[in-house]
Amino acid sequence: WRQNTEPPCEVALSSALEQDMQRLDEELWISGSKLKDIVKRFREELEEGLQKEGQNISMNVTWVHSLPRGDETGEYLTLDLGGTNLRVCKVTLHGASSTSPSTKSSLDQEKYSIPDSLKTGTADDLWTYIAEKLADFVKSKGLDREYTTQNPMPLGFTFSYPATQDRIDHAILQTWTKGFDIKGVEGEDVASQLREKMEERNLPVELVCVINDTVGAMIASAYNDPETIIGAIFGTGCNAAYMSSISKIKKLPPPQNDPRLRTKAENGQAKIDKSDEKMAINCEYGAFDNARKILPLTKYDETIDAESPRPGEQAFEKLSAGLYLGEIFRLILVDLQARGLIFSSASTSSSPLHTPYILDTGDLSAIENDVSPDLNTIRTTLKQKLNLNATRQEAEVARAIAQMVATRGARLCACGIAAICGMEGISKGHVAADGSVANKHPSFKQRWATALGEVLGWRERGEGVGDREDPIVITSAEDGSGVGCAIIAAMEMARRKEKS
Ligand code: BGC
Ligand code: MG
Repeated sequence: WRQNTEPPCEVALSSALEQDMQRLDEELWISGSKLKDIVKRFREELEEGLQKEGQNISMNVTWVHSLPRGDETGEYLTLDLGGTNLRVCKVTLHGASSTSPSTKSSLDQEKYSIPDSLKTGTADDLWTYIAEKLADFVKSKGLDREYTTQNPMPLGFTFSYPATQDRIDHAILQTWTKGFDIKGVEGEDVASQLREKMEERNLPVELVCVINDTVGAMIASAYNDPETIIGAIFGTGCNAAYMSSISKIKKLPPPQNDPRLRTKAENGQAKIDKSDEKMAINCEYGAFDNARKILPLTKYDETIDAESPRPGEQAFEKLSAGLYLGEIFRLILVDLQARGLIFSSASTSSSPLHTPYILDTGDLSAIENDVSPDLNTIRTTLKQKLNLNATRQEAEVARAIAQMVATRGARLCACGIAAICGMEGISKGHVAADGSVANKHPSFKQRWATALGEVLGWRERGEGVGDREDPIVITSAEDGSGVGCAIIAAMEMARRKEKS
């Protein structure tokens, strides 16, 4: 483990601790050949999801039929229910009249933090809260003077949870993820639950689309960047979306039998070969390997799963997403402490070390990134968050563990993308990524790129250099749940117009 951590641990450790660090390194390190095995199985699960309903990875159809052309315009409201915040935006799309990403759209927004009590409360509380915030926003921005219930403002809703859609303007929640556990929503249409609360308030808005954050990221990024191939979230949760040919989505009826799939060609716009029609797929690959056949799980992962509100679900996400990284790290410290290897009991008696989910990805990256001689940031973080006075040795051990946990996560995150690229025969392009892990963890992108290179064989072929010159690169996604959601609402309004 001294070789695998950067910089290597310099202090001498007791032989028991030394041995345990060795064990952790072996358990958490995923080799290049193991990555390849994981990707192979990953691709099989993705393909299964396209064949039939009810597979482990659900490969949800989204009714988003194309990437944007870049000339979409108009004014839209968007709502984003993420893992931590509720965001309401008024988005103006300027379309082709503007060429630079920064001026192609403008945005006015409010953020509200979601009270913890809401995350385990009832459907009624959730939708009431959202409708109230929306009503406040509409009023404070004077939108109630511009729009009426007869002439409503189009609203797009980014709902970042797995949902079944028969149309773009409804979405049946399959299961809560990311620690949410709100009663009365699973198996229900979130759009109609929200509409009911909006109607009670006579809001001059019309909900026209429900989208996933991954699809939003892909669409927002493609509005500016034609190289975009995938939208991905490496954040509180993890997931990705891409454009599939409809002919590959075997679980859908063939286009000629399904009016929902008769689109452009039908509208006399152009003669388009139907085999060429596309649809965005929201993979929901956080559920990969729920059968636990291939992922190398540690006892810490077992604990996280057992104590989560949905044991047995989101197996892949629980190893790789931001919600869990800090918690895996904490469970390792608890284990080493319990076995007398670090932090004597005296120092932990008044410590929140035993408080679940007290550490987040930000803490982990702060710990990992402190390579200063006195390790001050590590010590301050451990003091402020856990009320622990770490010795130099403990600080170095903490840094090495933070690194092992985050490295495993980043290498696994590359597997989902590699599997999509393999399945689709994609060899080049931009993976537009958003989320706290992608954005706030400075080493994530490099580790991810290295792992992707190992899996796809660039290294051996000497093609990529693990950087901007790689054939497939990670880019920072444009605002998916604001701008992306508005673009999808715009595309949907245009489709409606075409049809009528
Ligand atoms: C959800 C996905 C979402 C991802 C990233 C997962 O837990 O199931 O729908 O895209 O988190 O937010
Ligand atoms: Mg989000």
